[in-house]
Amino acid sequence: MRVAHTPPAPSQAPTRSYDRVPPMTTKPAAQTPPKEAHVLAIPENDSWEQLERDLADCQGCKLATLGRSSIVIGAGNRHASICLVGEGPGFEEDRQGKPFVGASGQKLDQIMRAIGWQRDELYICNVIKCRPPQNRDPQLDEMTVCAHFLKRQLALLKPTIILALGRFAGNFFWGTMATPKTMNQMRQKILSYHSAKVICTYHPSALLRNETLRRPVWEDVRALHNLHSQLKGEALKYNKMSLIYPEVSDA
Ligand code: SF4
Repeated sequence: MRVAHTPPAPSQAPTRSYDRVPPMTTKPAAQTPPKEAHVLAIPENDSWEQLERDLADCQGCKLATLGRSSIVIGAGNRHASICLVGEGPGFEEDRQGKPFVGASGQKLDQIMRAIGWQRDELYICNVIKCRPPQNRDPQLDEMTVCAHFLKRQLALLKPTIILALGRFAGNFFWGTMATPKTMNQMRQKILSYHSAKVICTYHPSALLRNETLRRPVWEDVRALHNLHSQLKGEALKYNKMSLIYPEVSDA
């Protein structure tokens, strides 16, 4: 879904906050969600084709006018039971019109291969579909409007399990985009999103810049694999109690 805007000179310098892993005790300031948050319903008889039509040249938030080259809808297997959700397109994703194709995408592939999953078994998308200028963090008004499309994607896909990558995706599933939780508060728990189970972990870009996150991410993806096996009634590949996360009922 390419659009005709000519982007300003792009910068690859990442400035998103996952590059600056915050102190775990710091709670980000609450923001007020825009009124659009609850007014958009999922259309009856929705389809992937309808979703693509509705997203083509979307003007739903200010990111439509801030230099995007592409609307990055998602990629992968539309019959997958496993869905990975990041936060938004970066430089390379915006250029190619596909999610997770830059350095963070390579890291993600590496992580998935480590637990035996290939891209063609997965569906991958983001909370927002357009790149914020200079890779800044997505803002609440942008996420609130664009999350409507993510909800439609997930309703069409009907995944069994979801891996939320990074704080912004995590807070979407926790329902706390306006009063965001830290990753430390969201990790090592299983929550429900409709019929899917969700685990949150750090964004691969954070991992590229902070080697100390390798261990928690590795734990989380092994717990995700275990969860998938459990739901399919299969034997656990990683048979360790710490890799069987508890479910939360009040997320
Ligand atoms: S970020 Fe989402 S809501 Fe905003 S213009 Fe892009 S597709 Fe539309």
